[in-house]
Order: sequence, then C-alpha cells, then structure tokens
Amino acid sequence: MVKITNIVFYKLIFNIGKKLRNPSLNNWFNFLKESERWSLSSIKTYQLKKLQKLIKIAYNQSDYYKQIFDKIGIHPSEIKTLEDIQKLPILTKSDLIKNKSTIQTSIKFKKVFKANTSGSTGQSLNFLRNESADSFNRASIFRGYSWFNVKPWELNGYFWGYNLSIFKRLKLKLLDVLQNRFRIFSFEEKPLLKFIKKLKKANFLHGYSSMIYEVAKYINKNNLSNHFKLKMVKGTSEKIFDSYQSEVKKAFGLKMISEYGAAETGIIAFECSKGNMHINMEGVIVEVIDNEVIVTNLQMTSFPVIRYKLGDYIKLAPKEKKCSCGMKHLIIEEVTGRVGSIIYGSKNNYPSLYLYYIFKNLGIENALFLTYQVIQKSKGNLIFKVAETLNKNDLVLVKKEIEKYFKHDLVYEIIDHQNLNSNNQQKTKSFISEIG
Ligand SMILES: [Zn+2]
Repeated sequence: MVKITNIVFYKLIFNIGKKLRNPSLNNWFNFLKESERWSLSSIKTYQLKKLQKLIKIAYNQSDYYKQIFDKIGIHPSEIKTLEDIQKLPILTKSDLIKNKSTIQTSIKFKKVFKANTSGSTGQSLNFLRNESADSFNRASIFRGYSWFNVKPWELNGYFWGYNLSIFKRLKLKLLDVLQNRFRIFSFEEKPLLKFIKKLKKANFLHGYSSMIYEVAKYINKNNLSNHFKLKMVKGTSEKIFDSYQSEVKKAFGLKMISEYGAAETGIIAFECSKGNMHINMEGVIVEVIDNEVIVTNLQMTSFPVIRYKLGDYIKLAPKEKKCSCGMKHLIIEEVTGRVGSIIYGSKNNYPSLYLYYIFKNLGIENALFLTYQVIQKSKGNLIFKVAETLNKNDLVLVKKEIEKYFKHDLVYEIIDHQNLNSNNQQKTKSFISEIG
C-alpha cells in the first residue's frame, strides 16, 4: 500500500475539488501571480479593457442597465478612459435588491453558483455568480495567501458560523474535513481549549476579527501562547480595531492582517506581508466619494455590479505611496467603518464616522487603544461602551475627545470594562442606532 502523508492527501483533495468546482481557478491564479508584478499603468490598461467589456455586456444583456444607461443617454462606446466611469450612475444595495432579476444578464453560462448576502435592513440579496468570477475571487484570496507562503490546503483554524442547527453543523464539519479546516462553535472553556490545542499544529487562522481577538486574549490570560507555528492570522468581515493587534501579536507572534471584500464585489483588497492593503485592481475599480467606497466588480458578468455603494467609509493612501513588497497596486490606508445611520444630537446630526475619529485620535495622540461600541437609544443621547478598564486620566481624555466632535449637543455615558462580544452570535458593530 502506498503511504501518503497528510499534507499530500489534502493537496490532492484540494486539487480534485478545484477541478470539479472551479476549473478556471488555476489559470486565474497564474494570471494574478504574473500581474502582481505589473506596473500601475499596465494594471490600469487591463482595468479599462475589462471595464469596457463589462459595460458592453451590461448594456446588451441586462435589461436593468440598458434601461438606466438609456435614461441618462450614455452608450458603452463613450467609455474611453477609466475616468469615464463617472458618467455612470451609482447604485445602492436596495437598487440591487429591488432589481436583481433584471440585473442578471441573459448570458448562458456553463456553470453558475448561488451567492447571497444580507442587507443591513435584514433584506437579503441573492444572485448568480459565473464560474469564472467565482474562481477569480478564490484565486485572489490564494494570491494573498501566497504572500505569506500559505497553501490553501494546509491545516487551518476558522471562526465562522455560530449557533447553527445540528444539520448545518454536520454539513460544515464535512466541508471542514475536506478543506483541512477546523472551527469552534462555542466559546465555552472545553471546546476553546480543544481548539487552541489543535491550533498549535495549524499553519493559519482566519475568520471574524473580534473572535480572533477574543481567543488571543484568552490565550494571553492563561499563558498558552507557546509553540504556535502560524504563518498568517487573517481577519475578515469586521473592522480590525487597532486595540486588537497587541493581544494578537502577543498570542500568535503575528499581527492580524486584513482581507476586505463582499459577496457582490469580490475581494476588494488584501494586506501584504509589509502591512499594506493592496487593492485587488484586476478584480475591482475602487472610487472614493465623500469618504465612501464605490466598487465596480470587473469580473462578474452574470450579475454586473457597477459603481456600487457598498456602505463602508474608507481612506486611500496617497497615490505616490510605495510599498516595499514591490507591488504597484494602490493601497487602502484604512477601512474606517460602516456607513451607519446618523447620530442625532439635540440640535444637529452627525455622521457615525465621527466615532472612528474620536477613537483613532485617542490611539494616535494618547496611545489609548480602545475597543468600543456606541449605542444611540434616543436623540441627543449616546452610550459609549468600552472593553478596556479606564482610569481617571483615560476618562478625561475620552470625554475631551467626545466633546471635540459633539460639543455639548449630546448627553453621553461612558461605561468601561464591557464584554462587547458576549453572545458571540453576531459581528461586533461599532455603532448601533435604535432610532428607527
Ligand atoms: Zn505591499
């Protein structure tokens, strides 16, 4: 009998799965490994070519886009430069949800996948993603892995999917086994210790950033941080607070890197080994208008997503910023937060982005890195919950910073030493508005 090692086995399973599910993944991966060495102008030339093709497809094969392009009187032939994208209208999530059946193109694909994403109002968007776009997206993630010398078939710990039904758990377990992956379903002591023990053998860890942070804290508190051999710790889906990094570094010897994307846009950016979030420019065009990110997915032709307001505030790095990793892909300096509902003062309204500034300033100017959640239950009132314990001096600094932005238009309360992820059932939101 031929004896095969574990890792060869998982590589084999990975390759079989790839052939069956994502036949074009290899080609995309090879393409992306080559294009990561391109100059910025070559990348932009590629983007323009893809954009023109996408707009043509949208106009000719999607009833929705045909109608809205005709209405504003624009024809695909008028898209001659990347800047011409600004002639097209901006779409919101509710536009996509309301018009999903007419946005879907009439192209007959050999293979499509069902994708869905939930909206902030609870509405969900489901659409079909063509195989090429799905494979491109996976290849983009795996290119990111390659920067950390991580192979997708290596043993990995995963934080995702809580409180699911027994049936769903079994299905996930099976998928996990095939992907050499293990996950945790509960934060009780016993499963947590088991997870950490297994993590000692793992090569990477990924999932919700707040959960990675919680586990890091637990590891540090209980002196369990020896002997990890992780090559990458990747946070997704949630904001990675600066306050997370020191615990994560202490526990795993690595900083948490960020993967940024959404189902409808694909991967938007992936952090390189030098700590910069490079835009996945072969897959998306990123614009920033009033601090908000507008994304065009260049690869998905089954369901064109053009100039889409994803709902995040971001900050781009200056165009001339160079990364020592050598890639010329533009850099997102920070995903500053979700575009939330407005904060209501007694007299004025404020963007929830202010909260980000307040806590960012505290970190930069006072080395006070806090994990926070702010809740508005009524107009003119705010509750600031903070995970850390604040001393008198800290409290003065926090108050000063809050009043800098809201003056005396708000009554607020600061509560420290809070467990912000107590139920582990949902993402930790930095701002919750209970005003309808
Ligand atoms: Zn870089």
